Amino acid sequence: MRISYARAAGAAVAGLTVAHCLPALAAAPGGRGIFRTTRRVAGPGRVGLTFDDGPEAGAVDAFLETLRELDVTATFFVVGEQVRRSPDSARRIVEAGHEIACHGYRHLNHLRLTPPATIADLRNARDTITGETGTKLRHFRPPYGVFNAASWRTAAKFGWERVLWAQWGRDWEEDATPERIRQRVMSGLREGDIILLHDAEAYSSSGSWRRTLGALEPIVSELRGLGLEPGPVGLVSPNGYPLTNGGAPEGAAPEGAAPASTSVAAGSGEFVPNGAAPGHTTSNGGRSTRGGAHEGARPTS
Ligand SMILES: [Zn+2]
Repeated sequence: MRISYARAAGAAVAGLTVAHCLPALAAAPGGRGIFRTTRRVAGPGRVGLTFDDGPEAGAVDAFLETLRELDVTATFFVVGEQVRRSPDSARRIVEAGHEIACHGYRHLNHLRLTPPATIADLRNARDTITGETGTKLRHFRPPYGVFNAASWRTAAKFGWERVLWAQWGRDWEEDATPERIRQRVMSGLREGDIILLHDAEAYSSSGSWRRTLGALEPIVSELRGLGLEPGPVGLVSPNGYPLTNGGAPEGAAPEGAAPASTSVAAGSGEFVPNGAAPGHTTSNGGRSTRGGAHEGARPTS
């Protein structure tokens, strides 16, 4: 009897564990159709540009300066503990007109977290990032692109669109160079793809962000040569506050199909400040912004 109880309990735990881990399939080719995430942005001639793992005081200004010179805005998936370490850096991202999104509070694989620990992490991330930047978060990408059942559900509960990527530079790897990063990003890239890069070294190799920084101008030049304009995942108001979720409905045609919400002109004044801190101004004239669609990619962030 005791054994059968033990077996039943073991089976129940195994079942719960499987259920807990299933959303990790969102990053796997076989699971994408079940656990749908945003991997592409909508609107003709657009690609999504995203940076994970920051902000870091030593790196963020270099990225903001280069992006300003290139006249590009992007989405920064920031880590709560990084924002706690360098809140001014997070605010400067917003002030420069970029979108701030959530990458969790601690940079941990969610398959190693219990459901309560996961929920606490995301709540902590939300409160920290929103508290320090005044922005309402619209997009979420878990560390390494790995969800568990709790982060999958909590993201929806918090009103966050789940975002992965379609192209990456593998810029955290030891052998990455600006040229290799450019090649990896551009290889097979299609209109609408969301690109994953990293603007921090805390969870990568020392100095890795410098290689990523060196790849930015060549990537943007090549994109523009193809008639593609990089931008954030979501709409961004002239003063940097996200306007709406970036994602189009599941199944929406990504190419050439600009939803009505994408026609909001930069500088039209139709933004909602989300109760954010006043006085933030943009330094880029409020360019860009359109919504997102869904589809194809791989893991790790
Ligand atoms: Zn990451």
